[in-house]
Amino acid sequence: LNKLRDPELGKRILSKLVPLAREAARLLGRPAIFMEVCGTHTMAIARSGLRSLLAGSLELRSGPGCPVCVTDQGDIDKVIALAAARHDLVIGTFGDMLRVPGTNSSLEQERARGARVEIFYSPAEAVTFAAGHPRDEVVFLGVGFETTAPAVALSVAAARSRDLKNYSVLSFHKTVPTVLEILLSDPELKIDGLILPGHVCTVTGRKAFDFVSTKFNVPAVVAGFEPVDLMEAAYLLLKQIVSGRAETVNGYPRLVREEGNNKAKEIMKEYFKPVDVQWRGFGMVPQSGLALQERFSLYDAAVKFPVEVSESPPPRGCACGDVLKGKIVSSDCPLFARKCTPLQPVGPCMVSTEGACAAYYQYEWSK
Ligand code: SF4
Repeated sequence: LNKLRDPELGKRILSKLVPLAREAARLLGRPAIFMEVCGTHTMAIARSGLRSLLAGSLELRSGPGCPVCVTDQGDIDKVIALAAARHDLVIGTFGDMLRVPGTNSSLEQERARGARVEIFYSPAEAVTFAAGHPRDEVVFLGVGFETTAPAVALSVAAARSRDLKNYSVLSFHKTVPTVLEILLSDPELKIDGLILPGHVCTVTGRKAFDFVSTKFNVPAVVAGFEPVDLMEAAYLLLKQIVSGRAETVNGYPRLVREEGNNKAKEIMKEYFKPVDVQWRGFGMVPQSGLALQERFSLYDAAVKFPVEVSESPPPRGCACGDVLKGKIVSSDCPLFARKCTPLQPVGPCMVSTEGACAAYYQYEWSK
């Protein structure tokens, strides 16, 4: 890792990257636009200053890569409604979800009103909590992509093997390839290359994203998370543009394999089934969600504690949907840094530690 953080190496790659980006811009008639579809990439790009280093010759935009941000407003409202109505439940969640604004409240506000909301760093920790508190009913919020879903499936396996009846999961898990198909089918989308999510690809494998280049003729590179990894990904994408190719390349071979992690894929398949789900900004995406299989309904909070909410429109004026589709950058939103700040967020993209608006506000916007 020290090698990948070497500033001299970064400078050497940059000296090759900039002329190549200019050549691609000459061929396209405008700077190439690349989209990253991973919240960790979003943060790494913002933190490294890569966007400003490449400004004018290459544009980097965020896509639907932050799991908290893509969670539909209706799902956020359901969790908040459950926390508000059932103070006898312990709602377990990753910290990011706490401050996400629902239509009328947030988990943080409900906690202040007496709801029991616990932050866990892993689903395994939530199971341990449930085992140590047999009188409490623990509902863990499963929010994440292919990277998180296997760990949540394992938490259900652990609860079963310990014969815990007081642990369940509210699954809002989603799968990345499915939404990318919808994104790339949008005729208005102007994206010249995709930086693919390294963490997700460790599970799915590179092959799962072959369709990006074979079906949509868009160059794609699986990338790691160091600044040098991201520069290399941009370089490999630019080389494809300049040479008129479109391939899905593995730029993260130190962790990503062609087929991915078969064990993780098997456990996901055993515990979850694909279902149609709503994504923020995208609407209903067929077969892109993961619900627990019926045989695990004892551990399915959607079955144990069903909640209905009335219509949940996105927060007024919030353009998260367009940010997540790469149609605009965060600073194009009229509320950015005015009505919407990390202290007073209007939408989830300003709350999540992987949100595009939070990243832009924290690292790239000059206050
Ligand atoms: Fe939504 Fe705030 Fe981002 Fe605007 S700046 S898109 S209101 S989260």
